[in-house]
Amino acid sequence: MSLGNVRKKKCVVLGLASSGVAVASLLARKGAEVVGSDVLTKEQLPETAEKLERQGVHIEWGGHPDTLLEGAEYVVISPGVPQNVPVVQRAHERGIPVVGEIEVASWFCRAPIIAVTGSNGKTTTTALLGELFTGDGWVVTVAGNIGSPFSDSADSIPPEGIAVVEVSSFQLETIVAFRPEVSVLLNLSPDHLDRYAGYEAYVAAKARIFENQDERDVAVLNADDSGVMGLAGQISAKIVPFSIARDLEEGVFVSGGVLTARLSGQEEQMCSVEEIRVPGPHNLSNVAAALAVSKTKGLGTSKLRKVLRTFAGVEHRLEWVADVGGIAFINDSKATNVVSVQCALQSFQTPIILIAGGREKGTDFGPLRRSVAEKVKLLILMGEAAPKLRHALSGVVETVEAGSMEEAVDKAFQSAREGDTVLLSPACASFDMYHNYEERGARFKDAVRRIRDREHHG
Ligand code: ADP
Repeated sequence: MSLGNVRKKKCVVLGLASSGVAVASLLARKGAEVVGSDVLTKEQLPETAEKLERQGVHIEWGGHPDTLLEGAEYVVISPGVPQNVPVVQRAHERGIPVVGEIEVASWFCRAPIIAVTGSNGKTTTTALLGELFTGDGWVVTVAGNIGSPFSDSADSIPPEGIAVVEVSSFQLETIVAFRPEVSVLLNLSPDHLDRYAGYEAYVAAKARIFENQDERDVAVLNADDSGVMGLAGQISAKIVPFSIARDLEEGVFVSGGVLTARLSGQEEQMCSVEEIRVPGPHNLSNVAAALAVSKTKGLGTSKLRKVLRTFAGVEHRLEWVADVGGIAFINDSKATNVVSVQCALQSFQTPIILIAGGREKGTDFGPLRRSVAEKVKLLILMGEAAPKLRHALSGVVETVEAGSMEEAVDKAFQSAREGDTVLLSPACASFDMYHNYEERGARFKDAVRRIRDREHHG
């Protein structure tokens, strides 16, 4: 099988959300005979229909007919399409390669790929890497789960440029030859257990990022995470570790409050921890990972430092919203699992009023008890998971419920004192009340700004 040789080959794209549309366009640009298919109807996706049909993509709407796979060389599935739907099963039975969008995009990318995965911190680290390489004068594309699909830009980035790609475990499930020159595994903790057979299956999906790497490539690993380091034995790439907890013989670490690189026998002090703007130890870990990648690719320290001093993080990740009467409001709507909430709570030295809840994902909330007891003075619960969270955290903290974000923010403001932090960090997905975490975060920010304007003008 010669991957990437798609000219005049029939490629079936299942699922026409943003990454499906992007990969269908890419394949059409490369001369493939592309057939798209979605369970939705043309009337439900009029813009998609227009865009793809203009490029000569034929689309089967409202399901996947039996004829779809006839003569197909590849089936490309979106991360949202589960592997066990009948049409995918049929493709497997017929021996048609089933690949994901990241895989296809990588066939056409002439620049080296840096791929970032982990349970938490992917977007933050990917965004930071984008800025670090841009600051050093590289032609960069930042793609994947962050921003636009990799297929939009993969074929236009020049060979001397760099592609920084955020990849989820779902995307890694459908790779075949995807081979990053530098792969990064930030951390591992339980997430998405509603979709995987168990934690081992989830870890195995993440570990696939290393599968096609060899000794010419680099794997950047979190030395502070025993689950991550446990995979080292199965990695062929050169391992470059990072740590915020201890000095390393080789790698990037924090020593005496200074981020330090010790690579190939050379040691360099890169920047003081105090210069970094993104809050919390977890973000320091993300920074260390990004620096490990940057030094591996030979970026200059003074330029790196300049970017680190300005990088303030990404929207909806511990995002500072406003200060009203000495009360700080922080939007961490992207915290959809337990570890990200623990990290958020560890990032503030003030008493916290925590707004949490939403749609749970088979999560055990028990591990939150300790940090909630330590840091949270009032817990405000929302959404479907409110009863489960209340039960898991019973006796630990005063708890009230709210029927909407506006009510939650009002209740938080009423109970807050000067010097407190009001933190939205839900530990849950958003889909019970919102389209996505961005909408949830936006509603939080709207509610906060309303209070701010009322206080300032009233
Ligand atoms: P991802 O793309 O992996 O979901 P994000 O950068 O979007 O990661 O951050 C998601 C959530 O996890 C945010 O609440 C953020 O504050 C938190 N977070 C970021 N980096 C880490 C990390 N290294 N460990 C734990 N939590 C983190």
